[in-house]
Amino acid sequence: IKPAEIMNHLPTQFFATLVQNVNREIMAGHDVINLGQGNPDTPTPKHIVSSLQEAAENPLYHKYSPFSGFPFLKEAIAHRYKEDYGVELDPETEVAILFGGKTGLVELPQVLLNPGDVCLVPDPGYPDYWSGVALAKAEMSFMPLLASNGFLPDYSAISEQDANKAKLMFLNYPNNPTAAIAPSSFYEDTVEFAAKNGIVVASDFAYGAIGFDGHRPISFLETPGAKEVGVEFYTLSKTYNMAGWRVGFALGNAEIIRLINQLQDHMYVSLFGGIQAAAQTALTSSQHCVTELVARYESRRDALFSELGNIGYNANKPGGSFFSWLPVPKGYTSASFADLLLREAKVAVAPGIGFGQHGEGYVRIGLLSDEERLREAARRIGKLGLF
Ligand code: PLP
Repeated sequence: IKPAEIMNHLPTQFFATLVQNVNREIMAGHDVINLGQGNPDTPTPKHIVSSLQEAAENPLYHKYSPFSGFPFLKEAIAHRYKEDYGVELDPETEVAILFGGKTGLVELPQVLLNPGDVCLVPDPGYPDYWSGVALAKAEMSFMPLLASNGFLPDYSAISEQDANKAKLMFLNYPNNPTAAIAPSSFYEDTVEFAAKNGIVVASDFAYGAIGFDGHRPISFLETPGAKEVGVEFYTLSKTYNMAGWRVGFALGNAEIIRLINQLQDHMYVSLFGGIQAAAQTALTSSQHCVTELVARYESRRDALFSELGNIGYNANKPGGSFFSWLPVPKGYTSASFADLLLREAKVAVAPGIGFGQHGEGYVRIGLLSDEERLREAARRIGKLGLF
């Protein structure tokens, strides 16, 4: 079989290797504390599961769903955005239902970019942005996210020529992998920069619900003028521990929503109706489960950082998301340090280089085990005697 040329342009799936290495240690009988992947470790809240069980009995959902999804689900996400962010969305024209945020992030470059067009991509950043750009045969121009700038891109460092050439830009706050949060002034600058240069903004708000110390992360769509220049991607994966259910949304600019729906009409019929009904339940019933989830990650963060403090490992506490971004000790690369942690401490973390060149010098730790296991992970790292 001779594959199409595009298959050679797809970036290698870095995390597949990581998973293989972790599995090798587990198969060898080691007790690995796996903090490498971004997979929520606690179950979907019961009332959402019950809603699916009930909906599965409804013959309406046994048929094909409407192409772009049931109106009740679009109304539910519009309701949540109004409640949480004060953002008004027209459910019919400003909401697209996705199979998880990932499909939309990969589709967007395909509906907006021609071969050779330029997309601004954060470095370090979530690798699926690269996939969509590759499938569109477009080019990436990386925006370094540096600690010195709060892991925000510095628009003043982008040359006028590069800014003019760019057609699309990905942003992601709370950020994976750096766990940084964006202030509203940054989004105001973003709208100005995007409008001036004719760039579409794609705000990936996958961790939008997870902010610590009483801080509620800001939606890009709260910014005046945001809908004129872009869309936001929201997902139920992290907010309601529904990663396996594959429910996400694109929200905002009506023309972009129309294009995403148009592409999806050629590729899928929408999600199983029972899942749409359960997603509606998640979005419209009490949000107590989300408050609990955020409190759980915050206690885990505090447990991890108190033990890291005990072993003398100094790092900044994350303000949101469920990641921590830790500097690697002198003499190691992110890959060699991650490798050492897996082999010697049986703690799996993600090396920063997997997220881009500017991820070098860091590892990402997920707050994805209970407090005791996170403390244990830090103690095992401490035993290596590096700090
Ligand atoms: N964006 C970021 C930054 C992520 O970390 C993830 C998942 O790990 C996603 C998007 C996609 O999530 P999903 O496709 O499950 O909605």
